[in-house]
Formats: sequence, C-alpha cells, structure tokens
Amino acid sequence: SISPATLSAISTSARHGMLVKSGQHLENLEKVQAIAFDKTGTLTVGRPEVTNIFIKSGENITTIIERIVQIEKGSSHPLAEAMIRFSKNYLDPSKVEATKDMTEVIGKGVIATFHGERWAIGNEKLFDHTVDNWYENEATALKETAKTLVYVCKNNDVVAIIALKDEIRQDTLEAIKTFHSLGIETVMLTGDNERTAEAIAHEVGLTRYVASCMPEDKVTALKSLQMTFDTVMMVGDGINDAPALATANIGVAMGAGTDVALETADIVLIKNKLAKLVDLFNLSKQMNKII
Ligand code: ADP
Ligand code: MG
Repeated sequence: SISPATLSAISTSARHGMLVKSGQHLENLEKVQAIAFDKTGTLTVGRPEVTNIFIKSGENITTIIERIVQIEKGSSHPLAEAMIRFSKNYLDPSKVEATKDMTEVIGKGVIATFHGERWAIGNEKLFDHTVDNWYENEATALKETAKTLVYVCKNNDVVAIIALKDEIRQDTLEAIKTFHSLGIETVMLTGDNERTAEAIAHEVGLTRYVASCMPEDKVTALKSLQMTFDTVMMVGDGINDAPALATANIGVAMGAGTDVALETADIVLIKNKLAKLVDLFNLSKQMNKII
C-alpha cells in the first residue's frame, strides 16, 4: 500500500517535472550514499559542436568532409550530428548520399568501405595506434581542454582529427556541490577517453571518474560502488546507460534521453535538470518525516 504522504509527494514531483514511478523509490532516496553520473547528455547538454579540425598534410579536406557525411548520415549519435552540421562550411550535406554499407561499432564509432578503402570514424579503440603520429601534440592539447576527439582513418591511417566541445549543463556544478554537502559520494562514468574525462570531471567538481566505458563497464562500476555503499543511484540518458540504470538501486533518466533509458529508469527528470533531483531529495526527506 502507499501512504497518503507518499502519494502527495509523487504528485508534487510530477507537477515540478519529476516523474517518480513508485513511492518506494521516493522513500529510498534519503538512503542514497553514492551517485554515478553519465557524462554526455547528463552532466553536459549533449549537443557537441565541432571546434577544431586538423588534416594530415597531403590530404584533401573536402574529400574527408564528404566521406564523414556519407558515413555519419547513417548514425544518430550526437557526435555524428555535430559533424554533419559542421560540414556545411564545405559542402551541402543534403546533396551527399549516405553510404549503405556503414557499420556502427558500439562504444567506438563507425566504419565503411569506399572503392576498396576502409574508412573508420571514432575514438582510439577503433584503430591501431602508431607511435610516431603527426597529430599527437594537437590531440593531447585538445583533450586537456575537455574536448572530445574523433579520429578519421583511411586504411588505418589517421587522415584527420576533429575536436568537439559539449557544454556543461547550467545547473550541474551547483547540483554536484549540494550532493557533496549531503555527504553523497559522486562518480562520472563515460565512454570518452581518459584525459577528456579527467578534464570534465575537474570542471564539474567530481574527483572520481571511469573513462572509456563500454555499457557493461558502467554496470561493473555500479556493482563495485554497491560493494561499498548500500544504496547507489545512477543518472543517465543513453542506450548505453540502460544496463547501469537497471543495476542501480535507483535509476534516474534525463527526459531528453533515449526511450530505453526512460523505460528502464525509476525516476525521469522531464526538463533535464539535475537541480530537480536535488529538490526530490529534499521532498523525500520531508515525506519520510511525515511517514
Ligand atoms: P558516450 O555517450 O559517453 O559518448 P557512446 O557509447 O555513445 O558513449 O560512444 C562512445 C564513444 O564512441 C564516443 O565517445 C565516440 O568516441 C565513439 N562513437 C560512437 N558513435 C560514434 C559516431 N557515430 N561517430 C564517431 N564516434 C562515435
Ligand atoms: Mg549520455
């Protein structure tokens, strides 16, 4: 059965843009000792923009941009959308036909073949690193400014690197501070690389982070938190967050998240505001006092 105080708290939450799927979750909120946050779309807005592009000498930028559009048109990843918006500086992407033989590699990027050339666009996991590469200095500098790097490879040779910046949500810093003041442990889980993860974690005030996460790595991180803390919350938005949302004692999805994240979560923040999650903690406290 559900207490009147709980029922009232659920309806109050709904009016304020927080969808709580069961009263039990609201009651348990007060017990949360640790929160794991996804990065892209959760701590950040999730709408990256291209800020830099570096082309290997001897390569043609327009050809590279055209390949990117041909391949990324088939992807709905925010990085793909950002690169297609950026392509407008060089060509009309609506006139470029998407390639049919494109493959998405989860947590890594996309690959396709053109006239016997293998093109790959994604992160470091997608290609073999060479020691003496032309882009290393630029890549390192970009990562340190919290930018995400995308590598464009032709036959396993990096022909371009692209940097993208995703803004941190306006209320992220304040929310993290509040959780810390409540004595809650926080950690960021991200598919992004180590250095970018470190830079973002530093910007938002998180001391702990796990980088280069595949979806199952997020689950592992959750389980390891649960060894130390009784009640662990996970906040995310992506398909890749769904398994971790299910593993957490309380799963929270951003309203703009993917369907599977919204379905898996116990709580949905309709307006994508972490500040609302802080409100919910306070509401839970008041409610538990009444009960
Ligand atoms: P996240 O939401 O943390 O970025 P994802 O699992 O969606 O996690 O992706 C992990 C990484 O895989 C991305 O950060 C990116 O480096 C790479 N990636 C995935 N899809 C694409 C794509 N369409 N184009 C380029 N890179 C991609
Ligand atoms: Mg995300």
